Amino acid sequence: MREFVLLNNIYQSNNRLPATVTIPPGDDMGAIQIGDDQVLAAVDQLIDQVHVDLHKHTLAQVGRKAVTRNLSDIAAMAGQPLCALATAALPRDFGSDRSDELFTAMRDTAASYGCPLIGGDVSIWDGPLHLTVTVLATPAGIDPVKRSGGKPGDVICVTGKLGKSYPTDHHLTFEPRLDIARAIAQYPATRPHCMIDISDGLARDLGHLCEMSNVSAVIEQSKLPCRDNANWQQAVGDGEDYELLFATDHAAIGSPGTWEVMGVPITVIGRMVKSDNQPTVKIKLVDGNIVDLNDQGWEHH
Ligand SMILES: [Mg+2]
Repeated sequence: MREFVLLNNIYQSNNRLPATVTIPPGDDMGAIQIGDDQVLAAVDQLIDQVHVDLHKHTLAQVGRKAVTRNLSDIAAMAGQPLCALATAALPRDFGSDRSDELFTAMRDTAASYGCPLIGGDVSIWDGPLHLTVTVLATPAGIDPVKRSGGKPGDVICVTGKLGKSYPTDHHLTFEPRLDIARAIAQYPATRPHCMIDISDGLARDLGHLCEMSNVSAVIEQSKLPCRDNANWQQAVGDGEDYELLFATDHAAIGSPGTWEVMGVPITVIGRMVKSDNQPTVKIKLVDGNIVDLNDQGWEHH
């Protein structure tokens, strides 16, 4: 079953949620009201041979990634990390030295982003290494930015560079864009109308923003900030960039269309446009052709 179909089935039960749920499933994090405060929560899993490869990646790298990809979801909501919980299903022959190395990396990474690891569970099984990390976050004075809220005319922006995340090891070393998200979300002039972090790939994640905002998107090949000579197909399809993708007012962007926040470039790559029927994501190539990215069939790995 495609992940998209599975998740849509879950979202359709959102109307049965209690009123204390302020952000239902379907965003980078859900949120629940507790007294006067909101708490944001998300969980993600990391499986050997699916998201990482223990033949190639060190345990320190794997432990770091298990935590940072969750922190990237907090960034996508402009949240502030609160704490983390983790579970691990370890292969039977994993051994205590390697478990220590892995847990130390997870604990230290979480602590370094102000997101202490406060609990978890470990089991041994006959399958591959399987980690899950749950993170909690707070708005801390900034309304969470959701995937809905994009409007026709908005400019589409992305932080950093895109493509070739796996061959360049970017997926192991990236910095979750926590500070940048809060910096732009705190001011009405620059606050994103909608935002997501790029895990599945620009085309698919922009599609998520369009579906939730009920708008379409047109991006331009010539504007894509490609990592390490990535071609446009890699920039829109590779995924695991863990950059922020958002739409905001045109007025927020100064000429010539590139911002820098905290030393990280933010590039305008296109525009949101009115959606006629189904939201679409299209790219205008340098040769003038327009390609519908919804038709490319990229599937999350
Ligand atoms: Mg995300």
